[in-house]
Amino acid sequence: MINLENPRKFSALVSQAHQVAAEIFRPNSRKYDRAEHSYPKELDMLAALLDGMNAAGGDSGGAGAAGVRRDSKDAGAGNRNGSNLSTVLGVMELCWGDVGLLLSMPRQGLGNSAIASVANDEQLQRFKGRWAAMAITEPHCGSDSAAIRTSARLDGDHYVLNGEKIFVTSGERAELVVVWATLDKSAGRAAIKSFVVERNTPGFELVRLEHKLGIRASDTAQFALVNCRVPRENLLGDARIDVEKGFGGVMQTFDNTRPLVAGMAVGVARACLEETRKLLEQAGVKIDYERPALCQHAAAAEFLKMEADYEAARLLTLQAAWMADNRKPNSLEASMAKAKAGRSCVDIALKCVELCGSIGYAENELLEKWARDAKILDIFEGTQQIQLLIVARRLLGKSSAELR
Ligand SMILES: Cc1cc2nc3c(=O)[nH]c(=O)nc-3n(C[C@H](O)[C@H](O)[C@H](O)COP(=O)(O)OP(=O)(O)OC[C@H]3O[C@@H](n4cnc5c(N)ncnc54)[C@H](O)[C@@H]3O)c2cc1C
Repeated sequence: MINLENPRKFSALVSQAHQVAAEIFRPNSRKYDRAEHSYPKELDMLAALLDGMNAAGGDSGGAGAAGVRRDSKDAGAGNRNGSNLSTVLGVMELCWGDVGLLLSMPRQGLGNSAIASVANDEQLQRFKGRWAAMAITEPHCGSDSAAIRTSARLDGDHYVLNGEKIFVTSGERAELVVVWATLDKSAGRAAIKSFVVERNTPGFELVRLEHKLGIRASDTAQFALVNCRVPRENLLGDARIDVEKGFGGVMQTFDNTRPLVAGMAVGVARACLEETRKLLEQAGVKIDYERPALCQHAAAAEFLKMEADYEAARLLTLQAAWMADNRKPNSLEASMAKAKAGRSCVDIALKCVELCGSIGYAENELLEKWARDAKILDIFEGTQQIQLLIVARRLLGKSSAELR
């Protein structure tokens, strides 16, 4: 029988994450939305707490983005609820509080997930406890990550990196940046590898920070790499160019990070729904689960539709994370979850603003902020359209060359 409740072993972690979201994120939400680019110093004490939560998670992982990993001990362990699931559950709770602040959490960057996903044991140990951002996007390449131009050339014990990276979340604040670069442009996707670059490496220059629609608590940086020398052992995973394997190595990161971003969207959507329910009830609109939607107030009927989308997004997200924990190939499910959660979050946030009228649009409540924050969750780690393309390719058995 299917049990749709959260695994009991994660309940302490989820309730701790909720407490952080309610007592630290929510009260500081508006402050850092207004003070764009200033570091939320309240997060420093939280970092220690989160480290504790990750440690306490033991083999079941923790609350932050660094928790995701497919350990070989997961193989054949039966039905396992591990670090991917616990991380996604923690992220959902924290983003119910504030997604911009979650993205600003020290040591919980998407680069940390990349390291957790593809690093070998030695690298995992070496980069443990460091804050890592992720730099894939370039001025000429976003959705089509195979078109990366940043180059990496082996020179003695170092790779020499040259190129440009844009829209790097936490780029200014993180200590490390996981940079995607190609070892040989003529070899196509298989030559794209990820390199861990220390922020203070000569030749790794911060160009500017972006002003944004939403997630303003989170810094978004542009970098230039000019003859930036990175130790050879900082290449994550296998240095060989394996044309058979193609993009497999680096793309594996997305199978773990897309459910995380879907989890962020689920958290924001729940925040919007809860606030809207409260405001509707204050206006005398009750949501009745005993009667068909069409027999209820129009606002209640809309609410029920949104809740159905929210539940579908949540379950797809948990499924994708659970599959990662159980070492099942989950690229299809990770993209389905990201597509459904990203779109639902944007639709729900805007509809909630609409249903709540001027209260939803004004700055006295957080609904207008959540509507702005929501959009990025349907863009980064692969846009809505790209997720649907991946789903179509997988279902139809087409390659990226056949269906683009
Ligand atoms: C706030 C913010 C934070 C970010 N953080 C990071 C980060 O930490 N690291 C990082 O590497 N990147 C980051 N990004 C970049 C993000 O991942 C890219 O913006 C995204 O992948 C889209 O790429 P693009 O902007 O170049 O758009 P494009 O790829 O140019 O796409 C433009 C539009 O065309 C659509 N499109 C493109 N190709 C197709 C197709 N084949 N079929 C149908 N539609 C298509 C897209 O869906 C999109 O709607 C961030 C972006 C933002 C805005």
